[in-house]
Amino acid sequence: MGVDAGPMGQQAEGTITFARDSSVGPLCVTNNNVRTITCGALQGSTGMPRTFTKFVAVHELGHIFDDQSAQGGQIRLSDFVSNASITDSNILWVMGWITTNGCPPGSNVFAEDTTVLRSNNAGQLEVWRRGERGWGSGPGSFYNPPTQNDRCVQRSAPNFTDFQQNPDQASVDESAADMFLNWVYRLQSGGVLANVCDPLNQTNPGYWTGQGFLNRDWRNQMSDTPTSGLLDGSLPGDNRFFWMHEVVDDIFDRHPW
Ligand SMILES: [Zn+2]
Repeated sequence: MGVDAGPMGQQAEGTITFARDSSVGPLCVTNNNVRTITCGALQGSTGMPRTFTKFVAVHELGHIFDDQSAQGGQIRLSDFVSNASITDSNILWVMGWITTNGCPPGSNVFAEDTTVLRSNNAGQLEVWRRGERGWGSGPGSFYNPPTQNDRCVQRSAPNFTDFQQNPDQASVDESAADMFLNWVYRLQSGGVLANVCDPLNQTNPGYWTGQGFLNRDWRNQMSDTPTSGLLDGSLPGDNRFFWMHEVVDDIFDRHPW
């Protein structure tokens, strides 16, 4: 992948540096100008220390890929994600814009982030959400009380896992980085390059047992209930993978990498 020449005119395809610095707080900061990813002491949703893992590193590389995809004025990854309308094999919503119609009065649906709100052609309000299904690990949110209606009810807490490194429900950028992370691992899981030509139309949602995008439903979870999710016959993991692979393919086609 081409990495922009640095401010001092360094060659493209240069080095990306990871650094530790507790002064940046409990997160990682990507500075594309100096090609450095600086991480502080990471924390989970309850403030417990969180280890810097290879999954954190690949998530951060996803932010770099997002930045580099905009080289030459091209469409960046997060723009694709912002416009995404990913549905599963039963045409049910997985990620992207979704109407809030049908949510009960007093719903907290807008609480997390009101900047991702729009009106559709029918005059209905829509919000952008990352969705709870199809990620390679989870859940990304806890609900109290549990509810399947994740678009209407504000979660009680986020949950950080290997494949949901920053599960902000309304953040396009963080979802883009997690989509990159899941795609990398599913594409090459256990050293085997996945068959991306026909990942769909499987009859057994559990056929994919590798890493990254799983056909699992992570909704309806309480924080005190460990879970491996429910197998989801609508194949949300396959559909996320297939969508992401086409987008990355498109991005590479737009660049001389
Ligand atoms: Zn991030």
